[in-house]
Amino acid sequence: MKTPSNYLTIRITLIFLIIAGSLNAQDINRIVKNDYSRSSDRKILHIPDIQGYETLKGDFHMHTVFSDGHVWPESRVMEAWREGLDVIAITDHIEYRPHKDHIVSDHNSAYEVAREKALAQNIILLRGTEITRDMPPGHFNALFIDDVNPIENEDPMKQLEEAARQGAFILWNHPGWASQQPDSTIWWDMHTEILDNGWMHGVEVSNSGEWYPIVLDWCREKELTVFSNSDIHAAIDFDYDLSLANAHRPMTLVFAKDRSQTGVKEALFSRRTLGFFGNQLVGPENLILDLFNASVIVNTPFMESERKGKKVKHIELENPTDLTFILVKDEENGKNKDLIELNPHSEIIIIIPANEDTANYRLVNCWSGSNDHPVVRF
Ligand SMILES: [Zn+2]
Ligand SMILES: [Zn+2]
Repeated sequence: MKTPSNYLTIRITLIFLIIAGSLNAQDINRIVKNDYSRSSDRKILHIPDIQGYETLKGDFHMHTVFSDGHVWPESRVMEAWREGLDVIAITDHIEYRPHKDHIVSDHNSAYEVAREKALAQNIILLRGTEITRDMPPGHFNALFIDDVNPIENEDPMKQLEEAARQGAFILWNHPGWASQQPDSTIWWDMHTEILDNGWMHGVEVSNSGEWYPIVLDWCREKELTVFSNSDIHAAIDFDYDLSLANAHRPMTLVFAKDRSQTGVKEALFSRRTLGFFGNQLVGPENLILDLFNASVIVNTPFMESERKGKKVKHIELENPTDLTFILVKDEENGKNKDLIELNPHSEIIIIIPANEDTANYRLVNCWSGSNDHPVVRF
């Protein structure tokens, strides 16, 4: 049975439907929809500046369809922009170009295709190439070159010489790649010759899914710049799940006088870089320690208490950055192996004996040598 209040409800509903219908008058010929399409924003990676330098995020090793990659050069720029990178080098192989019957080009084409997009996105794009030889000497990236074409040569030494003549920064890529060094990561006599000629300035400590701790020792002994690069061939989020919290490609942090190509080049030749892959940081100890100190806010002890009859003080460590620091108390008996994880954008409380002026902690996810973790003090 219909009551007056039912009639009222029906009338209000009808009026609402008429208004809603007129507001949402839809063109039945075309409706713009939004089925989970990605926003076109850029991720910001919070990594502080140190020593008066700007901290730039770089990837100095990537491929496109112009060698054996699966991606067009402009897409490499857009991937890097979305991930918050500042500087990239497209380094297609000179000697290995499986798509060359379909893509007619020379060795500068990938750079030239990507250049406008890089300018438009404010990404520093370096002209680069990968000299791709059997071991020894293996693969080398030449960066900041003027012209890739003359670097094509039968003789790898002539290739490196030509790159150096163009003022290149040259790095040895994936020195421990199992396809080329199946038994161990070996430094060959030929590498000494290349180094002595001034044709090697850096080396990849980390490349795509692997890293080579021993190479950190080479960097210290032979004064080489540390790199961590993606060597990406597929689309970046084909290989990395960048939707995960804190996920990022392997990258090289560059501490540059300014955010420019000249700034990057000066920093690379001055060895001011750290490798950053997963939650690991690798490279010179002073850079790691300065980065820790610039990242972590240590709040002075806010209370004292007693633990097992001993006075202890409580200290807050605050980490507003995208870096992770894993600490282990550095004790003489070496018994304490408790990991203290200071995750990105978080805070922890550590408890240290009140009678100790300083407590030492090893940063076990940071490496300055194959067996060395920098120590911080509170
Ligand atoms: Zn390679
Ligand atoms: Zn490569």
